[in-house]
Amino acid sequence: MEWRILGSFGGSSPACRMTSFLVDGTLALDAGSLTQALTVPEQERVSRIVLSHSHLDHVASIPFLVENVFADGAKTLEILLTPEVHDTVKRHLFNNDLWPDFTRIPSQLAPAVKLVQMLPRVPFAVGHLTLTPIPVNHTVPTCGFLVEEQGGGAVLFTSDTGPTQEVWEAANRCPNLRALIVEVSFPSRLQRIADLSLHLTPQTLAQELQKLSRQVPVYLYHLKPRYLEELRQELSTTPFPQPVVELQQGETYRF
Ligand SMILES: [Zn+2]
Ligand SMILES: [Zn+2]
Repeated sequence: MEWRILGSFGGSSPACRMTSFLVDGTLALDAGSLTQALTVPEQERVSRIVLSHSHLDHVASIPFLVENVFADGAKTLEILLTPEVHDTVKRHLFNNDLWPDFTRIPSQLAPAVKLVQMLPRVPFAVGHLTLTPIPVNHTVPTCGFLVEEQGGGAVLFTSDTGPTQEVWEAANRCPNLRALIVEVSFPSRLQRIADLSLHLTPQTLAQELQKLSRQVPVYLYHLKPRYLEELRQELSTTPFPQPVVELQQGETYRF
């Protein structure tokens, strides 16, 4: 499957200070920067968004994608989310206050946006892909995703998390795992801030990778722009149990 990296933090364009991946051209995994990174024809191909959690760097482009492509109700954008994220999106985003309630516009029968609930640990199919949300350890309810292609490989995306357990067990269990996309946000000098905000530093990332019982390519995302150079320097000297490499903003990976 093809993963296009629209927003993974490690770069200098505004789009990369958010989180979004485009899988096989039509499925967005998180939606921080869809409208900044994609042309309008490319935005028109996006039919579904799967959200890992409600933080702004993962949802910020949804209102503008709806405005650009779906507002007339000619087709519907499906947003898959857990019950907790569903409540937050309804209460704080599509609330007729911050943004119009596009789950009822232009009409309740043909809305621009349909919110579809998914449950942690319950796999669901999206075309030729099966996604399993796996709870991780962040300041708001958050799921990483195991994304499996029928008859092909699998990718595991941790989303934002501090030290956690279940995703590593899922990685160890998945026979076709081709890649892990793991967060690292702050340099270890700021360990206290990372622990409070439930993110990883190179130090805690190294401990987390000890939980992996297999060798698989590990790609990093969510390097906070303010500490990018310091993080890169620390990552290059940290003894990880297996090699890690920064995900390249704007690149397309085939897994
Ligand atoms: Zn977050
Ligand atoms: Zn984030």
